[in-house]
Amino acid sequence: MGNLFVVSAPSGAGKTSLCKEIVDFFPRLRHSVSYTTRPPRAGEVEGRDYHFVARDAFDRMAAAGRFAEWAEVHGNGYGTAIATLEEARSGGYDLLLEIDCQGAAQIKQNYRHGVFIFILPPSIDELRRRLEGRGTDSAEIIARRIENARGEILQAAWYDFLVVNDDFSRARDEFRAIILAENCRSARVLPTLPVEFGLAESL
Ligand code: GDP
Ligand code: ADP
Ligand code: 5GP
Repeated sequence: MGNLFVVSAPSGAGKTSLCKEIVDFFPRLRHSVSYTTRPPRAGEVEGRDYHFVARDAFDRMAAAGRFAEWAEVHGNGYGTAIATLEEARSGGYDLLLEIDCQGAAQIKQNYRHGVFIFILPPSIDELRRRLEGRGTDSAEIIARRIENARGEILQAAWYDFLVVNDDFSRARDEFRAIILAENCRSARVLPTLPVEFGLAESL
């Protein structure tokens, strides 16, 4: 079974930028494309960044039990389709889920092998500067995201790994190290070793 990496962060912490670098770096790792009712931002592409759906379509998917997890975040619906996880399993690749804390908690209950990573900004002031600098959201939306950030940060305590995104390249190295270490876990490597090593009984 492939690894399931679940990454959360308050909006503006750098989660999208870091996850993009990570997915580009590890050929066996793919980004899970979520469903959302949020309108696309400039530059976002349907099917690559999100599946952008109307509220009624989203609610129908939720009612039909087609989400592995879903949540309301900053006033929009976001969800991970069960089909996305099944495709990764049958395709034999690892998956990176960029989801909020409520969704991560649902995955933790239902998919015990998940690896949970939380990305923190160096401070709330810096978070505000980044959201303003990104230039994709109105002042009102930024204010709501900052307000939500305080509650989200408290959730960091239950994650397996914490990465503080102050210097971007250092944060990227730490993130890479987490993925590399998980890929070296004995349970993952043992099944790939030559039969002549005689380790088959250890599986
Ligand atoms: P960002 O915070 O700037 O990355 O803005 P987004 O609109 O891309 O994401 C908003 C929130 O929704 C973030 O907390 C994401 O982690 C979360 N999110 C994205 N996709 C999913 C999903 O499939 N499920 C859940 N539960 N949350 C998601
Ligand atoms: P998120 O997906 O968590 O909302 P983004 O990846 O969109 O965050 O990053 C928010 C903004 O902060 C972007 O404009 C990004 O270029 C910038 N940013 C990300 N990491 C850093 C960093 N380490 N130092 C300075 N700016 C950063
Ligand atoms: P944004 O609107 O800035 O793209 O994302 C806002 C928040 O929604 C982020 O914290 C992001 O991680 C979260 N999010 C994105 N997709 C999903 C998803 O499929 N499920 C959940 N629970 N949260 C998501």
